Amino acid sequence: MRTSRRQFLKVSAAAALFPMPAIAQGAGPRVVVIGGGFAGATAARFMKSGNSAATVTLVEASPTFTACPFSNTVLAGMRPLTDQQFGYDKIAASGVTVVIQPATAVDAQGKSVTLGNGTRLPYDRLIMAPGIDLRWDGLPGYDEKAAEVMPHAWKASEQTALLRKQLESMQDGGTVAIVAPANPFRCPPGPYERASLIAHYLKASKPKSKLLILDAKDAFSKQRLFQNAWKELYPNLEWVSLSQGGKVTSVDPAAKTLKTDFSEHKVDVANVIPPQRAGAIAQQAGVADRTGWCPIDASTFESKLVPNIHVIGDAAIMGGMPKSAFSANAQAKFCATAVTAMLAGQKPAEPRLINTCYSLIAPDYGITVAGVYKPTDGVLADVQGAGGVSPIDAPKSNRELEAQFAEGWFKTITGEVFG
Ligand SMILES: Cc1cc2nc3c(=O)[nH]c(=O)nc-3n(C[C@H](O)[C@H](O)[C@H](O)COP(=O)(O)OP(=O)(O)OC[C@H]3O[C@@H](n4cnc5c(N)ncnc54)[C@H](O)[C@@H]3O)c2cc1C
Repeated sequence: MRTSRRQFLKVSAAAALFPMPAIAQGAGPRVVVIGGGFAGATAARFMKSGNSAATVTLVEASPTFTACPFSNTVLAGMRPLTDQQFGYDKIAASGVTVVIQPATAVDAQGKSVTLGNGTRLPYDRLIMAPGIDLRWDGLPGYDEKAAEVMPHAWKASEQTALLRKQLESMQDGGTVAIVAPANPFRCPPGPYERASLIAHYLKASKPKSKLLILDAKDAFSKQRLFQNAWKELYPNLEWVSLSQGGKVTSVDPAAKTLKTDFSEHKVDVANVIPPQRAGAIAQQAGVADRTGWCPIDASTFESKLVPNIHVIGDAAIMGGMPKSAFSANAQAKFCATAVTAMLAGQKPAEPRLINTCYSLIAPDYGITVAGVYKPTDGVLADVQGAGGVSPIDAPKSNRELEAQFAEGWFKTITGEVFG
């Protein structure tokens, strides 16, 4: 069954206006997906395309998705925020029932999801892909109010626009600090790509300014590639590691200061990326453990804590696989086939998953890390000898090509998920 745009809007409006006991469902299996980001939107589409008899309902809190990949280019003034934004019309047109409402509760025993307006959605299998939430208790002084002064911009949209505005308003000669969290967190190379692109902007527009990365780690993704490039391109960028005293222990938004165990930094623009955990609905559903993340069976992505619920994307503990949009999309496709097999009483095939993370160091300077993963001893582990990083001594033409591949990847994945 195909759903027209008008029908889709009707579904959304009905869900918004009338608290109902349950939305009527067809005869096939009922699959509900929570979260319409890279993981959830992909899973819903694949679930429906491989299983036309199933009723697939995608529950998403916001009518517009703002993608994080490439949002660092918005901070550098390379593209507008609107290029990061996508709607759900095409997903609705593919036969998925899209409901724009927050999921507020999961009744794992009764197998239903309750929405913000009171609607209840029964399911046979639930796929949860709520992404991350920021731990507002994770860094003393940093809460939602502080984020209005010291943006995290780790969920894109208003926060990205705010950080861009602050960078634009800063005087030449100012200091920008990026506070990078300990592992695990969304997009391991993200803070360093961000530092590179902000440094690119400062070099061109405010060359007397400084950029400081205050880090709670001693090592990070694609480190040698980033550091070599910084030496060559951005002499005003300084990385302070954990063992050099880089770990920020508290922040004071009113004074614009960042405290470490050894010093206090007064800065003009502070981009604080705090510790994270799985989206709040995962905690409510009982699929997150004490780490704040969701343990899963590496072969099916079914929760280790609650049956009939699968968790994919950033919210899940995926072993060696990084929290990236590329990973989320790959996990979603496999999860959809596993759920289809399980609903038919079959054993799913074992997954082999690929991740590739591109990072831009400048508009014409791209680098990559790639990996292949399979279940090993109960977790998704690296397949030894597969994948790797860009060559350390590649010519400029390679870096230019990788920057183009990055752009191509973003167009392809967003086209596949939302187009
Ligand atoms: C600056 C930055 C740069 C990045 N660059 C890259 C990159 O170059 N390549 C790459 O592969 N990855 C990149 N990432 C990582 C990537 O953005 C994430 O890994 C990816 O978005 C994870 O997908 P997800 O579906 O798990 O979560 P999300 O994409 O965040 O989607 C979660 C969705 O769930 C919805 N939701 C949450 N709770 C509820 C609820 N209760 N009810 C209804 N809906 C709900 C949210 O509104 C959201 O739409 C980057 C991240 C950042 C921050």
